[in-house]
Amino acid sequence: MDFRWSAEDEAFRDEVRSWLKDNLVGEYAALGGGGGPADETGWDVRLEWEKKLGEAGWIGLGWPKEYGGRGATITQQLIFNEEYARASAPARVSFFGEGLLGPTLIAFGTEEQKQRFLPGILKATELWCQGFSEPDAGSDLANVKTRAILDGDEWVVNGQKVWTTLAHHADWIFNVVRTDPDAGRVGEAGVPAGTSGSGGVAKHKGLSFLLMPMDQPGIEVKPLKQLTGSAEFNEVFFTDARTGADLVVGNVNEGWKVAMGTLGFERGTAFLAQQLRFEQECREVIEYAKKHDLAGDAIVRQKLADAWIGVQIMKYNGFRSITQLLATGSPGPEASIGKLYWSHWHRHLGELEMELMGPWSEVLAERPYELEEFQSSFLLSRAETIYTGSTEIQKNIIGERVLGLPREPAAS
Ligand SMILES: Cc1cc2nc3c(=O)[nH]c(=O)nc-3n(C[C@H](O)[C@H](O)[C@H](O)COP(=O)(O)OP(=O)(O)OC[C@H]3O[C@@H](n4cnc5c(N)ncnc54)[C@H](O)[C@@H]3O)c2cc1C
Repeated sequence: MDFRWSAEDEAFRDEVRSWLKDNLVGEYAALGGGGGPADETGWDVRLEWEKKLGEAGWIGLGWPKEYGGRGATITQQLIFNEEYARASAPARVSFFGEGLLGPTLIAFGTEEQKQRFLPGILKATELWCQGFSEPDAGSDLANVKTRAILDGDEWVVNGQKVWTTLAHHADWIFNVVRTDPDAGRVGEAGVPAGTSGSGGVAKHKGLSFLLMPMDQPGIEVKPLKQLTGSAEFNEVFFTDARTGADLVVGNVNEGWKVAMGTLGFERGTAFLAQQLRFEQECREVIEYAKKHDLAGDAIVRQKLADAWIGVQIMKYNGFRSITQLLATGSPGPEASIGKLYWSHWHRHLGELEMELMGPWSEVLAERPYELEEFQSSFLLSRAETIYTGSTEIQKNIIGERVLGLPREPAAS
C-alpha cells in the first residue's frame, strides 16, 4: 500500500477537521469520545450529535450519491474515521443503520425499500437494531427458529432473539426469520445429507431477511444486565408480531445470502478509528503507570512496551485489510486475522489495567455501581472475543479460508 495521501484526500481531511472544529463544542465535546455500541454513556447527547452529523451529510459517507450518500472513496472514509477519533468525537449511535442495514438495502433492497428507509438512516431519525442471534443460533446462525408466516398482506412473527444491542432505543429491527421450515430437507433435489450442522437439513434454506417496526404490542424487549452494570443489549420476544408483506429484503426464503452480505459490511472502514482509540487507551495506561510509580518496575515496563508494539501491529494489520479491500472490493477472509488480533490485544490490555490498579481494581468508583474507565474497559473487552464472530470462528475461517486447511467436521 502507498501510505501517502493524495492532494484531494488532504483537502477532504481539512474539510473534516474544520467541520469538527466548528461543531464539536459544548456538551458534544464534553463527552470526549465516551460511549460505544455497547455503552450508553451520554445517549441523548450522542443522538442529537448524530442528527447534526446527518444534517451536515457525514452519515452514509460511502453510500452512492443517488441514495443520499457522498460517494466517498475508501480512503476518504478512512480519513473521516481517523479525524473523528482524533477529535474524540462522540461514539456513534447509528451503527446498525448506517453500517449494516443501509449497505444491505443498497445491495439487495427494492427501490421502494431504499426510498422508504435510507433517508431515516441518513438523518438519524430512525434507529435500527440487528435481530440475528437466538438462544440456539449464534455462531450457527442458520439454526434460527423464529418463524414468520404470511397472513394476507402481513407477516406474522413468533419467536425470540437475544443479545439484541440497543433494541430498547430502536424504531426498527432487521431480522433473520424462518419462512419455510421444510426447505432444504434431505431428499429434496440438490440437498445431500450432511450439508448442515444438524439433522441432515440444509438449515440456511428457507430463511428470510425481514424488516419489522419495534413499536407494536407483539414485540417485548427485556434488558439483559451486564457485568458493567448497564443493559445495552436485550432479549426480544415476538408474539404474533406483524410487519408488511413487502418488507422482506431479497427473495423470500433466500435471506441467507442477504444476511451474509450484512455480516460482510460489518468490517467496514472504522478500523483506523478503533486503532486510534486503542492507542489512546494505551497512552493512558502508560501515564497511569508513571503517575503511580509503577513504570520503573522491569516487568511492568515490558508489559507496557508489549502493549504499545501490539497497537502498532494492529495498525499495519488494518492497512493490510484495506489494501485487500481497495484491490478486490472485499476485505477477504484475512480480515479475521485483524479481528482475532485486536480483540485479544484489548483483553490483555484490560488485564494489565487491572494489574496496575492492584487492589483498587476490585473497588467501585462510586455507589451504587460506578466503574472507573479501566474497570469498564476491562469488562467490556471480555465481550469483544465473542461478538462479530467469536475467536474460535475466526480461527476456523483463518484455518480453512486463508491457510486452506481441511474443513472442520460438522457437529452432527
Ligand atoms: C456485546 C455483544 C453484542 C451483541 N450484539 C448483537 C446484536 O445486536 N444482534 C445480534 O443478533 N447478536 C448480537 N450478539 C450476539 C453475537 O453475535 C453472538 O454472541 C455470537 O455470534 C456467538 O454466539 P453465541 O453467543 O450463541 O455462542 P455460541 O455460538 O453458542 O458459541 C459458544 C462457544 O462455542 C464456540 N463455538 C461455536 N461454534 C464453534 C465451531 N464451529 N468451532 C469451534 N468453536 C465453536 C464459540 O466460539 C463460543 O466459544 C452480541 C454479542 C455480544 C457479546
